[in-house]
Amino acid sequence: MLLKKLELSGFKSFARKTEFEFATRTTAIVGPNGSGKSNIAESIRFVLGEQSMKSLRSKRGEDLIWNGTPGTPKLNRADVAITFDNTKRLLNVDYDEVEIRRTIYRDSASQYLINGSPVRLKDVFELLSGIHIGASSHHIISQGQADHILSASIKERRGMVEDALGLKVYQYKRLESERKLAKTRENIGQVEALRKEIAPHLKFLQKQMEKVEQAEKLREELKMLYREYLAREEMYLEHHNKRLQEKRGEPQQELHDLEKRIKNNEIKLQELTKGRGAHADLEVLDTTLRKLREEKDTHSRRIGRLEGMLSYAKKEQGGKKIGDTVSFNRNAVDAFIQKLESAVETALALNEVDGLKEALRSLRTSISHFWQKEVKGKEELQDYKTLEKELKTTEEAFKELSSEEAKIQEERARKARTLEEERGDERKFEHELFALRSRRSELLTRLELLRVDEEKLRGEAASLKETLREVGLWLGRDAISFDKTAYAFTPDEPRAKQEERKWKIERIKIKIEDIGGGDDIKKEYEEVASREEYLSRELLDLEKSADALAGLIEELSKKIDAEFKDGIQKINKEFQRLFVLMFGGGTAALKIVAPPPKKKKRLLDELESADVQSEEIPGDEVEEEEGVEITINLPSKKIRGLQALSGGERSLTSIALIFAITNVNPPPFLLLDETDAALDESNSRKFGNMIHELSEKTQFIIITHNRETMTRAGVLYGITSGSEGVSRVLSVKLEEAVGIAQ
Ligand code: ATP
Repeated sequence: MLLKKLELSGFKSFARKTEFEFATRTTAIVGPNGSGKSNIAESIRFVLGEQSMKSLRSKRGEDLIWNGTPGTPKLNRADVAITFDNTKRLLNVDYDEVEIRRTIYRDSASQYLINGSPVRLKDVFELLSGIHIGASSHHIISQGQADHILSASIKERRGMVEDALGLKVYQYKRLESERKLAKTRENIGQVEALRKEIAPHLKFLQKQMEKVEQAEKLREELKMLYREYLAREEMYLEHHNKRLQEKRGEPQQELHDLEKRIKNNEIKLQELTKGRGAHADLEVLDTTLRKLREEKDTHSRRIGRLEGMLSYAKKEQGGKKIGDTVSFNRNAVDAFIQKLESAVETALALNEVDGLKEALRSLRTSISHFWQKEVKGKEELQDYKTLEKELKTTEEAFKELSSEEAKIQEERARKARTLEEERGDERKFEHELFALRSRRSELLTRLELLRVDEEKLRGEAASLKETLREVGLWLGRDAISFDKTAYAFTPDEPRAKQEERKWKIERIKIKIEDIGGGDDIKKEYEEVASREEYLSRELLDLEKSADALAGLIEELSKKIDAEFKDGIQKINKEFQRLFVLMFGGGTAALKIVAPPPKKKKRLLDELESADVQSEEIPGDEVEEEEGVEITINLPSKKIRGLQALSGGERSLTSIALIFAITNVNPPPFLLLDETDAALDESNSRKFGNMIHELSEKTQFIIITHNRETMTRAGVLYGITSGSEGVSRVLSVKLEEAVGIAQ
């Protein structure tokens, strides 16, 4: 016995807390119409999670709560608890007793508790799936619903059979898997859409990446080229630096020596010019000589004149020697000489020929005047002897002047010679100095040329340094870490070769720059690629789980199908047996049918219009699933369709089917609400016998007015309702029960 207890409080007509113990295999509930019996069946549906208000004979949740009468005020909630025995652990919780409780409030909010702990409806269903009962309630046959199994559509009937066979768990699982599969397929679609969306971008980025990789390769090549270029440049600079340094050494030393020599020469030359007094002496001597010669000339002229006068006087006086002598006024002579001297000085100061000529002419005029005035007038008066005396004196003076002149001339010649010697030395030094200076300027030119070369080299060194810095920053240290020994350096390699390398480098640089910003592309590509990778992995996972789900669905379908077919077979055996038991013969069977295709179905409809066997939904609608048909054959009657059965026959047929199903897969309990209402006495007995037989397998709760049925119950509950409409329960004896029921 699984069902132990039912407790109602505020549910429909059960305003007060009411308890039912189900201690026997069969419990009968009896009572007059409207006392609240069916409310008990509904309370069981309710507590087991029924969601359909219609099957609780209500419109709203509120209808389930005691509505109140003048004497018993309405309540705010309805509460039903059902207790199962779980010593066999058929329910998947570790308790010997399991109580499920459902409370509903006026706002229709429901609350579920399992052993006092709040749970979700889903948890209740899951728990109950362990004893194969659920909301479909095949184990609760409501009043007037017994033949529902006969009037249902083939699809609906199939559902009922499946439920009764305990296949709902698998179906629930299958449905769940199908839902998951649908969701998974939806996700697959989404992921595929996302992949499709990023695909062109990824493709574009891949292309860009190819370029970036190409740029990377170019960078490597560039590094290689740079290493060679830089190594060679450094070697070139080292070589030429050394060469220029060497080249500079010799002329520099020579220049140094030369400077010293030039300085020495200059000093010597200076000394030479300083000591040159002879030149001034020579000029003094020249002046003295000039004066002497002038005096001599004067004397010579006087001598000539005196000799003339003497010869004249000899001739005139015939021996008297008259007129040989002329005397001059002293002042007149001094004035004359002074005049002459100043004229000569003037002439000497002149440079031009015309001036000189003029001076000479004036000199001649002065002399002529003096001669006319002083000599011609007095000559004749001169005494001959005086003249002779004067001549002698003059001649002596002349001689004196001549020797003086010779002396000075000699001295001048000597001095001139010394001067000449000194000049020679000077010229020699001057020559040498000139040579030294021209050598110096030659060396300076050479050094200047070297300096230009050095300057050029320094410029190249600076630009190498800058290049090293730039390349290091741009391409990293490894681009400027080179091994010079790796390259053969030939000093006479034309510079153009290095230029060529530089040109190649520049060309690659341009190519790299054309490709452009690699880092951004790389980052974006990596992002998009990893997203794509994630999506494709996700897709793979989803496809895998879709496959797994599809597999599971197929497996479940197969299992359901196999168990369903097997169940149908077993049911049919029982159905046939019970049918024969009820009707004393005939045949009854369930038949699995696939709905025929539309066309075929119409044709069949036309052919068998008079002999409808199935309960198919009329119209053009085609049922997708298989269904379950019922075929019966009453003994010694030509009736073959269910429609043609009497009310009692329908009751018997449905009872036979329900009991057949119960026999194959017994539910933990079976509640029958006035299922036996339409049976006659003989059939009531048969019904009672079946209950007796089946109660071995399942616990019965039977709401009945039938005395025969009551006799089969271990416990009888009588339900009454007072003037207030509040249902009450009392345990009764069979005789009392019959009384209560009536
Ligand atoms: P029968 O033998 O005719 O089938 P029954 O014993 O099965 O009758 P029920 O159908 O269980 O009777 O009870 C119906 C009674 O319950 C009605 O009289 C109805 O007024 C009462 N009832 C239903 N819902 C409520 C409610 N929310 N509050 C109070 N009474 C209610």
